[in-house]
Amino acid sequence: MSYSHILHEIFGYERFRGPQQDIIEHVGGGGDALVLMPTGGGKSLCYQIPAIARHRAGQGVTVVISPLIALMHDQVGALHEAGVSAAFLNSTLSGEEAYQVEQRMLRGDITLLYAAPERVTTPRFLAQLDALFERGKLSLFAIDEAHCVSQWGHDFRPEYRALTVLHERFPGVPRMALTATADDLTRADILERLQLQEARAFVSSFDRPNIRYTIVEKRDATTQLLRFIEREHPDEAGIVYCQSRKKVEDMAHTLCEAGIDALPYHAGLDSAVRQDHQDRFLREEGVVMVATIAFGMGIDKPDVRFVAHLDMPKNIEGYYQETGRAGRDGLSADAWMCYGLSDVVNQRRMIDEGPAEEEFKQSMRGKLEALLGLAEATDCRRTRLLAYFGEASQPCGNCDNCLQPPAVWDGTQAAQMLLSTIYRIDKLSGISFGAGQLMDIVRGKKTEKVAQHGHERLSTFGVGAQFSELQLRGVLRQLLAMGAVMVDVQAFNTLVLTAQSRAILKGEVPVLLRESVSLPKAPKGRVAAGRTVIKAPIELDGLAMQRYAELKAWRAEVAREHNLPAYVIFHDATLAAIAQRAPQTMDDLQGISGMGVKKLEAYAHEVLRVVGVPG
Ligand code: ADP
Ligand code: ZN
Repeated sequence: MSYSHILHEIFGYERFRGPQQDIIEHVGGGGDALVLMPTGGGKSLCYQIPAIARHRAGQGVTVVISPLIALMHDQVGALHEAGVSAAFLNSTLSGEEAYQVEQRMLRGDITLLYAAPERVTTPRFLAQLDALFERGKLSLFAIDEAHCVSQWGHDFRPEYRALTVLHERFPGVPRMALTATADDLTRADILERLQLQEARAFVSSFDRPNIRYTIVEKRDATTQLLRFIEREHPDEAGIVYCQSRKKVEDMAHTLCEAGIDALPYHAGLDSAVRQDHQDRFLREEGVVMVATIAFGMGIDKPDVRFVAHLDMPKNIEGYYQETGRAGRDGLSADAWMCYGLSDVVNQRRMIDEGPAEEEFKQSMRGKLEALLGLAEATDCRRTRLLAYFGEASQPCGNCDNCLQPPAVWDGTQAAQMLLSTIYRIDKLSGISFGAGQLMDIVRGKKTEKVAQHGHERLSTFGVGAQFSELQLRGVLRQLLAMGAVMVDVQAFNTLVLTAQSRAILKGEVPVLLRESVSLPKAPKGRVAAGRTVIKAPIELDGLAMQRYAELKAWRAEVAREHNLPAYVIFHDATLAAIAQRAPQTMDDLQGISGMGVKKLEAYAHEVLRVVGVPG
């Protein structure tokens, strides 16, 4: 059976995506590989298909090493649904259950075995692998989330270091390392630590064309978020990232009050509660998870329709990784961020007050500025993102700036007013002030604090009366992004000049800004709480829509019975395709993407019944 046969028969997919075929052929043929593919790119098939092919050819068991114990159950469940024999070994199994799995593995009855790195490197497990190896029944090692091996990566797991034993102890067994995030340093580290220097590297484009990037200026974040969800994603699954635990709690509460099915998730919650919320997010439909960045690694729920940031992440790497959790199924999804001056100040403070060495802080500041640059950009966001990762591209047509090119205004004059005011205040008072006072002076507002410090005597008092506070805030953010103003965190977040300020004061460097976009209006006829508005991934007419809704209800039942998330049974896209086709017979179900042979066998009758064909 060829690889593409396996793709059709077992997974029900029509064609390989991107570099999948090359990778599968290389590994299937016994080669080592390093696979760098963005989230949602389809890494799993890259080891599952070689594993299936090699098992059928009598080469035995593939061991998949993954740090995500909580997700192994669902991964194995998905393979079972597709008719592939798979199992996992981890601490959630009883001694007896683990023993049964080991016996099945030793008999060669398992195609893919999932295990955590600490399990793989125990003497007991290694001895079992020895036994398989001696009989030529150890087929392949797939090391998932391979960046965990590197201390440069963001999820360093010391247990990953011990995996060099695989190479030493089982020479000739092909190994592949897979990850979605690895800059050059991490990549080199993976190769060295896992002894994969000879492996072929497959590096995919990091573009996620189905994700639409939107970055808006923060006004009233809660209202902005509510409107975004109500207009674009009613009743759909999404993740809302906030920086603090308290904000997570508050926001989850606010969303619930607005009739949105939201749950909080952060490291301060009891682990049973966290697990429960994660399960509900994975298993139920349309749950919005409000979370700190503690949530997300390895969440392979394919139908997350949006990722929203209410606070700015630390850098573009973080932003890209978090937004990458949207739309793994390839259907359209939104990455929406709302940010403001205070975010920048906060992030800046966290860096400055942190315990790191100055050199490290300097690089963190640079990364923050790059993210701010992305947020303030007036051209294609995707082009900027990809450029940051070293990839050249054309304007995408699927980001806010491409879809609605922002008006740009020249803020140089306003910037000069702000900078010279900072300079003059310092000369007059010998101390610096924060953004509020600065803007009041430039706009000529006679507040108590202005009077108290004699600031109306400054020559720049009122010179910028024509600017709104909003505009000046934008200018300040831009100045921060350019490094032309610094926040002095030791002195109550006051603003001070830097070496870069000069060029702007002298008019050598222009300050261009995006025109602020006004708050989106509330959607017409606000969605009443409790009413379900179903959106399908493809255009469906009335009757097809009804079939789609019925199929979804049926799928939810099956998922509950099997104790698996709904998407493991069928993806939304598969249900929508069925609904559109209005199948009358088994034959009509053939060739629908996601409908493999095993699923056809198991569910075709039910599906036909649900769409109204009498049984
Ligand atoms: P990754 O691990 O790279 O984030 P996954 O392996 O979870 O991505 O794949 C993402 C989604 O894409 C899954 O739902 C998977 O079933 C689907 N998928 C992968 N390869 C294909 C393909 N060739 N055709 C259609 N769907 C695919
Ligand atoms: Zn674009």
